[in-house]
Amino acid sequence: MHLLLPTAWILSISATALATRTPAAGIQQVLGPRLSAGASIVLSSSAAPRWSQYQAPRAQIVVNVGSEKDVAEIVKYCNENRLGFLAQTSGHGWANTWKLDTGDVIINMRALKTVKVDKVKKTVKVGGGAIIKEIVDEVYKNQMHIVSGGCNCVGTGFMLGGGLGRLMGEYGLAIDNLLSLDLVTADGKTITVSSSSSDLWWALRGAGHNFGIVTSYVIKGHPWINNGTHWSGNLVFSGDQVEVVTKTINKLVFQKAMSIHYYFAVDPSSQQPVIIVNPFYAGKADDARKAFKPILDLQFIADTTGPIAWDELNSSGDFFCDKGGRKPAYSAGLKKLDPKAFKNIWDAYVQFLNKNGVDKVGRSAVLIECYSYITARAIDKTSTAYPHRDVNFQAVILGWYDDKALDKEAEKLGKYAREQWLSTSGFHRDHT
Ligand SMILES: Cc1cc2nc3c(=O)[nH]c(=O)nc-3n(C[C@H](O)[C@H](O)[C@H](O)COP(=O)(O)OP(=O)(O)OC[C@H]3O[C@@H](n4cnc5c(N)ncnc54)[C@H](O)[C@@H]3O)c2cc1C
Repeated sequence: MHLLLPTAWILSISATALATRTPAAGIQQVLGPRLSAGASIVLSSSAAPRWSQYQAPRAQIVVNVGSEKDVAEIVKYCNENRLGFLAQTSGHGWANTWKLDTGDVIINMRALKTVKVDKVKKTVKVGGGAIIKEIVDEVYKNQMHIVSGGCNCVGTGFMLGGGLGRLMGEYGLAIDNLLSLDLVTADGKTITVSSSSSDLWWALRGAGHNFGIVTSYVIKGHPWINNGTHWSGNLVFSGDQVEVVTKTINKLVFQKAMSIHYYFAVDPSSQQPVIIVNPFYAGKADDARKAFKPILDLQFIADTTGPIAWDELNSSGDFFCDKGGRKPAYSAGLKKLDPKAFKNIWDAYVQFLNKNGVDKVGRSAVLIECYSYITARAIDKTSTAYPHRDVNFQAVILGWYDDKALDKEAEKLGKYAREQWLSTSGFHRDHT
């Protein structure tokens, strides 16, 4: 049974009696000497910026770790002083359930970014603070592939959430490639978790975050496909194509090598909303063109598809990485794509842009990630905590703006889109 996780593993992030806390200013004097020379303590959350300020954690104390040992010291210190704490790698998490107080602590892991490839064992050891760009660059140099996310900026939270990426058709979810993790537990112990560790090993692979702080993890590396060169790019469609594009993607048979990122976004040059289909094929261009023929046969207005090196693939999504601003996100897992629901969402999205101004909300977007689940579904469903292996399409709608006064409009749009998705998802239960 995997449901009875020992509660001691789960990190406490709830703040308790204020009377027992060390005043924020005292932290530097008391915790500082216990940390490595590379660590620092900053009394401002701006020291660890986040991707979205919308309902972001309120903690104002940032402890920048300098070594793996620092993590255990910080956790022990927080427990001694009854401070809530949260690990942060890149700050790209968009959950809005963090209950931290302003006097609580962000443990900034970014300095732990070493990536070591073992070409003989075909493994990659990743520091708990590394982001995808750092991992992909090192792995690619060693003529290998891993399952990585579609944006260069994302950190360890990607792995702990399951990890969806372009090569998951070939290799499964990122967690399916995990071999072990070094972890600091809620009571400040340092442990290694692997397949012999039962419940915790199960939970860390897809039950969300905060079962411990990951100081490093080891994943499988895979030999290059097609010498590390694949096929991708953008096909741009006008809005009147939304139903036919949706229908075509819904019907497409996703072979292991295939994936699509399907967007509604504002074209930076025309400042008009457009539909972007960004297909990816792990392998040769000729094979890709055959596999994506139903999409390539449609009436698009621009086509930038062609061969691309694997380490360059994510650069087209770098704009999506920008930190700051408010980005309420509403997501849903879908079995199928419903053309009428997508038309309704397109219309609502365009109306949102027109009403609030492209200059103010023009970075808002809709994104559907479409992957091959062939390998992810070949794995015993109960062997990991990840609950969404039946999902075919991951949808998210995102408001993006600076003015808090626009929150209500963005929330309304997000809730509407999610309602459209959930009522047509093909699932009986909510896979949000
Ligand atoms: C621009 C963008 C692109 C994305 N692309 C993809 C994608 O292609 N595929 C995909 O699957 N997901 C994707 N995501 C979702 C992303 O994986 C999650 O939001 C993830 O939680 C972000 O992790 P982070 O470490 O960057 O963020 P953070 O906000 O730093 O962390 C997120 C959560 O993980 C915890 N955490 C962070 N580091 C550690 C650690 N070392 N040990 C323990 N817990 C830790 C945090 O406490 C928090 O709960 C994307 C998100 C964004 C914003």
